Amino acid sequence: MERKNAWKEYNEIQLNSLRELSEGYKGFLDNGKTERECVKQAVCMAEAHGFRNLEELIEKGEKLNAGDKVYAVNMKKGIMMFTIGEECMTKGINILGAHIDSPRIDLKQNPLYEDNDFAYLDTHYYGGIKKYQWVTLPLAMHGVVAKKDGTVIDVVVGEDESDPVVGISDLLIHLSGEQMQKTAAKVIEGEDLNILIGSQPLQGEEKEAVKAGIVKILKEKYDFEEEDFLSAEIEIVPAGKARDFGLDRSMVMGYGQDDRVCSYTSLMAMLEVEKVKKTACCILVDKEEIGSVGATGMESKFFENTVAEVMNLVGCYSDLNLRRALKNSKMLSSDVSAAFDPIYAGAFEKKNSAFFGRGVVFNKYTGARGKSSSNDANAEYVGEVRRIMDENGVFFQTAELGKVDFGGGGTIAYISALYDMNVIDSGVAVLSMHAPWEITSKADIYEAYKAYKAFLLNA
Ligand code: MN
Ligand code: MN
Repeated sequence: MERKNAWKEYNEIQLNSLRELSEGYKGFLDNGKTERECVKQAVCMAEAHGFRNLEELIEKGEKLNAGDKVYAVNMKKGIMMFTIGEECMTKGINILGAHIDSPRIDLKQNPLYEDNDFAYLDTHYYGGIKKYQWVTLPLAMHGVVAKKDGTVIDVVVGEDESDPVVGISDLLIHLSGEQMQKTAAKVIEGEDLNILIGSQPLQGEEKEAVKAGIVKILKEKYDFEEEDFLSAEIEIVPAGKARDFGLDRSMVMGYGQDDRVCSYTSLMAMLEVEKVKKTACCILVDKEEIGSVGATGMESKFFENTVAEVMNLVGCYSDLNLRRALKNSKMLSSDVSAAFDPIYAGAFEKKNSAFFGRGVVFNKYTGARGKSSSNDANAEYVGEVRRIMDENGVFFQTAELGKVDFGGGGTIAYISALYDMNVIDSGVAVLSMHAPWEITSKADIYEAYKAYKAFLLNA
Protein backbone atom coordinates (compact mmCIF):
# COMPACT_ATOMS: atom_id res chain seq x y z
CA MET A 1 0.00 0.00 0.00
CA GLU A 2 3.00 2.30 0.21
CA ARG A 3 2.95 4.89 -2.53
CA LYS A 4 5.94 5.56 -4.77
CA ASN A 5 8.11 8.65 -4.56
CA ALA A 6 7.63 10.37 -7.91
CA TRP A 7 11.16 11.81 -8.00
CA LYS A 8 12.55 8.28 -8.47
CA GLU A 9 10.62 7.79 -11.69
CA TYR A 10 10.95 11.10 -13.55
CA ASN A 11 12.80 11.33 -16.85
CA GLU A 12 14.59 14.46 -18.09
CA ILE A 13 11.57 15.73 -20.05
CA GLN A 14 9.33 15.44 -17.00
CA LEU A 15 11.90 17.11 -14.77
CA ASN A 16 12.05 20.00 -17.21
CA SER A 17 8.30 20.56 -17.27
CA LEU A 18 8.25 20.20 -13.46
CA ARG A 19 10.84 22.97 -13.17
CA GLU A 20 9.05 25.17 -15.66
CA LEU A 21 5.78 24.77 -13.75
CA SER A 22 7.37 25.61 -10.41
CA GLU A 23 8.99 28.76 -11.85
CA GLY A 24 5.56 29.92 -13.03
CA TYR A 25 4.12 29.00 -9.68
CA LYS A 26 6.66 31.05 -7.73
CA GLY A 27 5.85 34.04 -9.93
CA PHE A 28 2.14 33.53 -9.25
CA LEU A 29 2.83 33.53 -5.49
CA ASP A 30 4.96 36.69 -5.75
CA ASN A 31 2.29 38.58 -7.65
CA GLY A 32 -0.65 37.08 -5.78
CA LYS A 33 -0.45 37.73 -2.06
CA THR A 34 -4.13 38.65 -1.77
CA GLU A 35 -7.28 37.16 -3.28
CA ARG A 36 -7.66 40.31 -5.40
CA GLU A 37 -4.13 40.01 -6.79
CA CYS A 38 -4.74 36.34 -7.60
CA VAL A 39 -7.93 37.18 -9.49
CA LYS A 40 -6.12 39.87 -11.47
CA GLN A 41 -3.46 37.37 -12.53
CA ALA A 42 -6.04 34.69 -13.33
CA VAL A 43 -8.00 37.10 -15.57
CA CYS A 44 -4.79 38.07 -17.38
CA MET A 45 -3.80 34.46 -17.93
CA ALA A 46 -7.33 33.44 -18.93
CA GLU A 47 -7.63 36.23 -21.50
CA ALA A 48 -4.25 35.29 -22.94
CA HIS A 49 -5.65 31.78 -23.42
CA GLY A 50 -8.75 32.96 -25.26
CA PHE A 51 -11.23 33.19 -22.37
CA ARG A 52 -13.81 35.96 -22.70
CA ASN A 53 -15.64 37.89 -20.01
CA LEU A 54 -19.10 36.40 -19.37
CA GLU A 55 -20.61 39.81 -18.56
CA GLU A 56 -19.58 41.19 -21.94
CA LEU A 57 -21.08 38.18 -23.72
CA ILE A 58 -24.35 38.65 -21.84
CA GLU A 59 -24.43 42.34 -22.74
CA LYS A 60 -23.81 41.65 -26.40
CA GLY A 61 -26.32 38.81 -26.41
CA GLU A 62 -23.73 36.34 -27.73
CA LYS A 63 -24.18 32.58 -27.53
CA LEU A 64 -21.73 29.96 -26.32
CA ASN A 65 -20.83 26.82 -28.26
CA ALA A 66 -18.66 23.77 -27.67
CA GLY A 67 -15.02 24.80 -27.39
CA ASP A 68 -15.81 28.35 -26.25
CA LYS A 69 -14.02 29.67 -23.20
CA VAL A 70 -15.51 32.13 -20.75
CA TYR A 71 -14.76 33.54 -17.31
CA ALA A 72 -16.70 35.45 -14.63
CA VAL A 73 -15.29 37.50 -11.76
CA ASN A 74 -17.02 37.89 -8.41
CA MET A 75 -16.35 41.25 -6.72
CA LYS A 76 -12.67 41.11 -7.76
CA LYS A 77 -12.09 38.30 -5.22
CA GLY A 78 -13.30 35.17 -6.93
CA ILE A 79 -13.29 33.78 -10.45
CA MET A 80 -14.93 31.00 -12.44
CA MET A 81 -13.77 29.74 -15.81
CA PHE A 82 -15.58 27.46 -18.25
CA THR A 83 -14.58 25.60 -21.38
CA ILE A 84 -17.80 24.48 -23.01
CA GLY A 85 -17.92 20.78 -23.73
CA GLU A 86 -19.45 18.82 -26.59
CA GLU A 87 -22.02 17.14 -24.34
CA CYS A 88 -25.08 18.94 -23.01
CA MET A 89 -24.29 20.61 -19.68
CA THR A 90 -27.15 18.73 -18.01
CA LYS A 91 -24.91 15.64 -18.26
CA GLY A 92 -22.68 17.31 -15.72
CA ILE A 93 -19.66 19.59 -15.45
CA ASN A 94 -16.13 18.62 -14.41
CA ILE A 95 -15.19 21.13 -11.76
CA LEU A 96 -11.88 22.09 -10.17
CA GLY A 97 -12.23 24.22 -7.04
CA ALA A 98 -9.66 25.86 -4.76
CA HIS A 99 -9.35 28.95 -2.60
CA ILE A 100 -7.17 32.03 -3.06
CA ASP A 101 -7.48 33.63 0.38
CA SER A 102 -4.69 32.83 2.87
CA PRO A 103 -4.10 33.36 6.58
CA ARG A 104 -2.78 36.86 7.24
CA ILE A 105 -3.18 39.95 9.41
CA ASP A 106 -5.87 42.46 8.40
CA LEU A 107 -5.99 46.10 9.46
CA LYS A 108 -8.82 47.19 11.71
CA GLN A 109 -11.17 49.83 10.32
CA ASN A 110 -9.74 52.49 12.60
CA PRO A 111 -6.14 51.25 12.73
CA LEU A 112 -3.75 54.19 13.01
CA TYR A 113 -2.50 55.34 16.42
CA GLU A 114 0.58 56.71 18.16
CA ASP A 115 2.14 55.36 21.34
CA ASN A 116 5.34 56.77 22.86
CA ASP A 117 6.62 58.22 19.60
CA PHE A 118 5.84 55.10 17.59
CA ALA A 119 3.10 55.00 14.96
CA TYR A 120 1.19 51.70 14.72
CA LEU A 121 -1.56 50.02 12.74
CA ASP A 122 -3.96 47.96 14.82
CA THR A 123 -5.03 44.63 13.35
CA HIS A 124 -7.37 41.66 13.50
CA TYR A 125 -5.81 38.49 12.14
CA TYR A 126 -7.55 36.47 9.42
CA GLY A 127 -7.74 32.69 9.55
CA GLY A 128 -5.98 30.29 11.89
CA ILE A 129 -2.48 31.44 12.75
CA LYS A 130 0.12 30.70 15.42
CA LYS A 131 0.46 34.35 16.40
CA TYR A 132 4.00 33.96 17.71
CA GLN A 133 5.17 33.09 14.16
CA TRP A 134 4.29 36.56 12.85
CA VAL A 135 6.55 38.76 15.00
CA THR A 136 10.04 40.01 14.04
CA LEU A 137 9.45 39.30 10.33
CA PRO A 138 9.64 41.75 7.44
CA LEU A 139 6.00 42.33 6.54
CA ALA A 140 4.39 43.97 3.53
CA MET A 141 1.09 45.78 3.07
CA HIS A 142 -1.17 44.73 0.18
CA GLY A 143 -4.67 45.87 -0.55
CA VAL A 144 -7.03 48.60 -1.58
CA VAL A 145 -8.38 51.84 -0.18
CA ALA A 146 -11.84 52.69 -1.52
CA LYS A 147 -12.61 56.38 -1.28
CA LYS A 148 -16.06 57.94 -0.99
CA ASP A 149 -15.91 59.21 -4.57
CA GLY A 150 -15.62 55.66 -5.88
CA THR A 151 -11.91 55.66 -6.66
CA VAL A 152 -10.06 52.58 -5.47
CA ILE A 153 -6.36 52.93 -4.70
CA ASP A 154 -4.10 49.89 -4.93
CA VAL A 155 -1.52 49.67 -2.17
CA VAL A 156 1.56 47.45 -2.22
CA VAL A 157 4.41 48.37 0.11
CA GLY A 158 7.31 46.15 1.06
CA GLU A 159 7.89 44.00 -2.01
CA ASP A 160 10.25 46.13 -4.08
CA GLU A 161 13.90 46.01 -2.97
CA SER A 162 13.78 49.79 -2.46
CA ASP A 163 10.53 49.68 -0.45
CA PRO A 164 10.46 49.92 3.32
CA VAL A 165 8.97 46.97 5.21
CA VAL A 166 6.84 47.01 8.36
CA GLY A 167 6.50 44.51 11.18
CA ILE A 168 5.68 43.47 14.73
CA SER A 169 8.24 43.67 17.54
CA ASP A 170 8.81 41.04 20.24
CA LEU A 171 10.16 41.36 23.76
CA LEU A 172 13.92 40.83 24.10
CA ILE A 173 14.89 37.43 25.56
CA HIS A 174 16.70 39.16 28.45
CA LEU A 175 13.39 40.39 29.86
CA SER A 176 11.21 37.47 28.80
CA GLY A 177 11.24 35.45 32.02
CA GLU A 178 7.53 35.96 32.50
CA GLN A 179 6.61 35.73 28.81
CA MET A 180 8.45 32.41 28.42
CA GLN A 181 6.25 30.85 31.10
CA LYS A 182 3.13 31.49 29.04
CA THR A 183 1.51 28.88 26.76
CA ALA A 184 2.23 29.27 23.05
CA ALA A 185 -1.34 30.51 22.52
CA LYS A 186 -0.71 33.40 24.92
CA VAL A 187 2.93 34.32 24.20
CA ILE A 188 1.76 36.80 21.57
CA GLU A 189 -1.88 37.82 21.92
CA GLY A 190 -4.15 38.91 19.09
CA GLU A 191 -4.57 42.42 20.41
CA ASP A 192 -0.78 42.81 20.48
CA LEU A 193 -0.32 42.18 16.75
CA ASN A 194 0.30 45.88 16.16
CA ILE A 195 2.22 46.82 13.05
CA LEU A 196 5.01 49.31 13.69
CA ILE A 197 5.06 51.78 10.79
CA GLY A 198 6.94 54.88 11.92
CA SER A 199 8.96 56.77 14.52
CA GLN A 200 9.85 60.17 13.05
CA PRO A 201 7.84 63.12 14.42
CA LEU A 202 6.66 65.68 11.90
CA GLN A 203 8.48 68.92 12.66
CA GLY A 204 6.31 71.75 13.95
CA GLU A 205 3.60 69.33 15.07
CA GLU A 206 2.82 69.35 18.84
CA LYS A 207 0.47 66.42 19.40
CA GLU A 208 0.93 62.93 17.92
CA ALA A 209 3.63 64.17 15.58
CA VAL A 210 4.76 60.70 14.44
CA LYS A 211 1.22 59.78 13.43
CA ALA A 212 0.94 63.17 11.69
CA GLY A 213 4.06 62.31 9.71
CA ILE A 214 2.52 59.02 8.58
CA VAL A 215 -0.75 60.70 7.62
CA LYS A 216 1.24 63.16 5.50
CA ILE A 217 3.06 60.31 3.73
CA LEU A 218 -0.22 58.49 3.03
CA LYS A 219 -1.64 61.68 1.53
CA GLU A 220 1.43 62.48 -0.57
CA LYS A 221 2.26 58.99 -1.73
CA TYR A 222 -1.17 57.37 -2.03
CA ASP A 223 -3.60 60.30 -1.99
CA PHE A 224 -5.82 59.10 0.86
CA GLU A 225 -6.80 60.47 4.26
CA GLU A 226 -6.78 58.70 7.59
CA GLU A 227 -10.59 58.50 7.42
CA ASP A 228 -10.31 56.43 4.22
CA PHE A 229 -9.04 53.50 6.30
CA LEU A 230 -12.75 53.08 7.15
CA SER A 231 -13.30 51.63 3.67
CA ALA A 232 -9.97 49.91 3.07
CA GLU A 233 -8.94 46.28 2.81
CA ILE A 234 -5.26 46.15 3.65
CA GLU A 235 -3.67 42.80 4.32
CA ILE A 236 -0.38 42.45 6.17
CA VAL A 237 1.59 39.57 4.68
CA PRO A 238 5.19 38.33 4.77
CA ALA A 239 7.39 40.53 2.57
CA GLY A 240 9.54 38.91 -0.08
CA LYS A 241 9.49 36.39 -2.85
CA ALA A 242 8.89 32.65 -2.98
CA ARG A 243 12.18 30.74 -3.14
CA ASP A 244 13.51 27.33 -4.05
CA PHE A 245 13.93 25.45 -0.80
CA GLY A 246 16.56 22.82 -0.06
CA LEU A 247 20.07 22.46 -1.48
CA ASP A 248 18.58 20.20 -4.14
CA ARG A 249 15.92 22.81 -4.96
CA SER A 250 13.23 20.13 -4.65
CA MET A 251 10.84 22.31 -2.68
CA VAL A 252 9.24 25.74 -2.76
CA MET A 253 9.06 28.06 0.24
CA GLY A 254 6.56 30.85 -0.06
CA TYR A 255 3.73 32.71 1.58
CA GLY A 256 0.10 31.73 0.92
CA GLN A 257 0.67 28.29 -0.60
CA ASP A 258 -2.55 27.32 1.24
CA ASP A 259 -4.28 27.29 -1.12
CA ARG A 260 -2.61 29.05 -4.00
CA VAL A 261 -0.69 25.86 -4.75
CA CYS A 262 -3.96 24.12 -5.68
CA SER A 263 -5.33 27.31 -7.26
CA TYR A 264 -2.36 27.75 -9.58
CA THR A 265 -2.22 24.10 -10.63
CA SER A 266 -6.01 24.01 -11.18
CA LEU A 267 -5.78 27.23 -13.18
CA MET A 268 -2.93 25.92 -15.36
CA ALA A 269 -4.83 22.69 -16.05
CA MET A 270 -7.95 24.67 -16.89
CA LEU A 271 -6.11 27.00 -19.27
CA GLU A 272 -4.49 24.14 -21.12
CA VAL A 273 -7.44 21.85 -21.85
CA GLU A 274 -8.83 22.56 -25.29
CA LYS A 275 -11.41 20.08 -26.52
CA VAL A 276 -13.52 18.62 -23.74
CA LYS A 277 -16.45 16.21 -23.85
CA LYS A 278 -17.95 17.48 -20.60
CA THR A 279 -17.89 21.20 -19.86
CA ALA A 280 -14.81 22.00 -17.79
CA CYS A 281 -14.94 24.50 -14.98
CA CYS A 282 -12.50 25.99 -12.52
CA ILE A 283 -13.60 28.07 -9.54
CA LEU A 284 -11.23 29.97 -7.29
CA VAL A 285 -12.94 31.35 -4.19
CA ASP A 286 -12.26 33.67 -1.30
CA LYS A 287 -13.04 33.36 2.45
CA GLU A 288 -12.27 29.62 2.88
CA GLU A 289 -10.01 30.38 5.82
CA ILE A 290 -12.89 31.94 7.75
CA GLY A 291 -15.60 29.43 6.87
CA SER A 292 -16.40 30.05 3.17
CA VAL A 293 -18.92 32.70 4.21
CA GLY A 294 -20.06 35.88 2.49
CA ALA A 295 -20.62 36.93 -1.11
CA THR A 296 -17.17 35.84 -2.23
CA GLY A 297 -16.94 32.56 -0.28
CA MET A 298 -17.99 29.15 -1.63
CA GLU A 299 -21.35 29.45 0.13
CA SER A 300 -22.21 32.39 -2.11
CA LYS A 301 -24.81 31.96 -4.87
CA PHE A 302 -22.12 33.21 -7.31
CA PHE A 303 -21.27 29.61 -8.20
CA GLU A 304 -24.84 28.54 -8.98
CA ASN A 305 -25.77 31.84 -10.65
CA THR A 306 -22.76 31.71 -12.94
CA VAL A 307 -23.48 28.13 -14.01
CA ALA A 308 -27.06 29.29 -14.76
CA GLU A 309 -25.79 32.23 -16.87
CA VAL A 310 -23.45 29.96 -18.83
CA MET A 311 -26.24 27.42 -19.46
CA ASN A 312 -28.40 30.29 -20.63
CA LEU A 313 -25.82 31.34 -23.23
CA VAL A 314 -25.39 27.73 -24.29
CA GLY A 315 -29.15 27.69 -24.79
CA CYS A 316 -30.11 24.98 -22.33
CA TYR A 317 -31.08 26.89 -19.20
CA SER A 318 -34.11 25.98 -17.14
CA ASP A 319 -34.32 25.61 -13.39
CA LEU A 320 -34.56 21.85 -13.75
CA ASN A 321 -31.67 21.71 -16.24
CA LEU A 322 -29.50 23.71 -13.85
CA ARG A 323 -30.26 21.29 -11.03
CA ARG A 324 -29.50 18.35 -13.30
CA ALA A 325 -26.24 19.87 -14.45
CA LEU A 326 -25.09 20.39 -10.86
CA LYS A 327 -26.33 17.02 -9.67
CA ASN A 328 -24.46 15.24 -12.48
CA SER A 329 -21.27 17.23 -11.95
CA LYS A 330 -18.04 15.90 -10.54
CA MET A 331 -15.59 17.94 -8.55
CA LEU A 332 -12.06 17.88 -7.28
CA SER A 333 -12.29 20.24 -4.34
CA SER A 334 -8.68 21.11 -3.76
CA ASP A 335 -7.03 22.34 -0.64
CA VAL A 336 -3.70 21.67 0.97
CA SER A 337 -3.03 18.59 3.08
CA ALA A 338 -0.82 18.27 6.13
CA ALA A 339 2.52 16.83 5.02
CA PHE A 340 4.02 14.18 7.29
CA ASP A 341 6.70 15.90 9.34
CA PRO A 342 9.23 13.52 10.96
CA ILE A 343 9.98 16.14 13.62
CA TYR A 344 6.34 16.00 14.69
CA ALA A 345 5.71 12.37 13.76
CA GLY A 346 3.54 11.94 16.83
CA ALA A 347 0.78 14.05 15.32
CA PHE A 348 0.41 11.73 12.33
CA GLU A 349 -0.72 8.19 11.64
CA LYS A 350 1.85 7.11 9.09
CA LYS A 351 -0.21 4.75 6.95
CA ASN A 352 -2.71 7.53 6.29
CA SER A 353 -0.46 10.53 5.96
CA ALA A 354 0.63 12.58 2.98
CA PHE A 355 4.35 12.47 2.16
CA PHE A 356 6.41 14.93 0.14
CA GLY A 357 7.12 13.66 -3.35
CA ARG A 358 4.41 11.01 -3.46
CA GLY A 359 2.04 13.07 -5.55
CA VAL A 360 -1.36 14.69 -5.37
CA VAL A 361 -3.30 13.86 -2.20
CA PHE A 362 -6.88 12.59 -2.06
CA ASN A 363 -8.76 12.83 1.21
CA LYS A 364 -11.89 10.68 1.10
CA TYR A 365 -12.94 12.63 4.15
CA THR A 366 -11.59 15.44 6.29
CA GLY A 367 -13.32 16.71 9.41
CA ALA A 368 -12.48 16.46 13.09
CA ARG A 369 -13.55 14.32 16.05
CA GLY A 370 -15.54 11.60 14.31
CA LYS A 371 -15.35 13.05 10.77
CA SER A 372 -17.52 15.95 11.91
CA SER A 373 -18.25 18.52 9.16
CA SER A 374 -16.56 16.35 6.56
CA ASN A 375 -17.51 15.67 2.97
CA ASP A 376 -17.13 11.90 2.78
CA ALA A 377 -16.66 11.08 -0.91
CA ASN A 378 -18.53 8.02 -2.21
CA ALA A 379 -16.45 4.89 -2.65
CA GLU A 380 -17.63 4.57 -6.26
CA TYR A 381 -16.40 8.06 -7.04
CA VAL A 382 -13.07 7.47 -5.31
CA GLY A 383 -12.75 4.35 -7.48
CA GLU A 384 -13.33 6.40 -10.62
CA VAL A 385 -10.77 9.00 -9.56
CA ARG A 386 -8.21 6.24 -8.91
CA ARG A 387 -8.81 4.86 -12.39
CA ILE A 388 -8.34 8.28 -14.03
CA MET A 389 -5.10 8.87 -12.12
CA ASP A 390 -3.67 5.44 -12.91
CA GLU A 391 -4.62 5.58 -16.59
CA ASN A 392 -2.91 8.95 -16.93
CA GLY A 393 0.26 8.14 -15.03
CA VAL A 394 -0.46 10.51 -12.14
CA PHE A 395 1.28 9.83 -8.83
CA PHE A 396 -1.25 10.08 -6.03
CA GLN A 397 -1.56 9.23 -2.36
CA THR A 398 -4.40 9.20 0.15
CA ALA A 399 -4.36 10.78 3.57
CA GLU A 400 -6.19 12.12 6.58
CA LEU A 401 -5.32 15.35 8.33
CA GLY A 402 -3.29 13.95 11.22
CA LYS A 403 -4.22 11.45 13.91
CA VAL A 404 -7.82 10.79 14.88
CA ASP A 405 -8.87 13.18 17.68
CA PHE A 406 -5.79 15.41 17.21
CA GLY A 407 -7.72 18.11 15.40
CA GLY A 408 -8.82 18.48 11.82
CA GLY A 409 -9.94 20.95 9.26
CA GLY A 410 -12.65 21.79 6.76
CA THR A 411 -12.65 22.70 3.08
CA ILE A 412 -15.15 23.86 0.48
CA ALA A 413 -16.05 20.30 -0.57
CA TYR A 414 -19.18 19.91 1.57
CA ILE A 415 -20.70 23.07 0.08
CA SER A 416 -20.67 21.95 -3.55
CA ALA A 417 -21.72 18.49 -2.37
CA LEU A 418 -25.03 20.11 -1.32
CA TYR A 419 -25.99 20.04 -5.01
CA ASP A 420 -25.84 16.25 -4.75
CA MET A 421 -22.75 16.04 -6.93
CA ASN A 422 -19.73 13.81 -6.40
CA VAL A 423 -16.94 15.73 -4.68
CA ILE A 424 -13.63 14.60 -3.28
CA ASP A 425 -11.05 16.58 -1.36
CA SER A 426 -7.71 16.66 -3.12
CA GLY A 427 -4.61 18.78 -3.14
CA VAL A 428 -0.98 19.23 -2.29
CA ALA A 429 0.80 18.40 0.96
CA VAL A 430 2.31 21.35 2.85
CA LEU A 431 4.90 21.58 5.62
CA SER A 432 4.38 24.35 8.20
CA MET A 433 0.85 24.97 6.95
CA HIS A 434 -0.51 28.43 7.88
CA ALA A 435 2.96 29.63 8.88
CA PRO A 436 4.18 32.85 7.22
CA TRP A 437 6.46 30.75 5.01
CA GLU A 438 5.00 27.39 3.96
CA ILE A 439 6.86 24.61 2.14
CA THR A 440 5.72 22.34 -0.69
CA SER A 441 7.36 19.71 -2.91
CA LYS A 442 7.83 20.55 -6.57
CA ALA A 443 6.98 16.95 -7.46
CA ASP A 444 3.61 17.25 -5.72
CA ILE A 445 2.88 20.55 -7.48
CA TYR A 446 3.61 18.89 -10.82
CA GLU A 447 1.49 15.84 -10.02
CA ALA A 448 -1.44 18.03 -8.88
CA TYR A 449 -1.34 19.85 -12.20
CA LYS A 450 -1.26 16.53 -14.06
CA ALA A 451 -4.11 15.21 -11.93
CA TYR A 452 -6.32 18.22 -12.62
CA LYS A 453 -5.73 18.03 -16.34
CA ALA A 454 -6.46 14.30 -16.41
CA PHE A 455 -9.64 14.89 -14.42
CA LEU A 456 -10.98 17.62 -16.71
CA LEU A 457 -10.36 15.45 -19.78
CA ASN A 458 -11.48 12.08 -18.45
CA ALA A 459 -14.05 12.37 -15.63
MN1 MN B 1 -6.00 26.85 5.51
MN1 MN C 1 -6.88 25.79 2.65
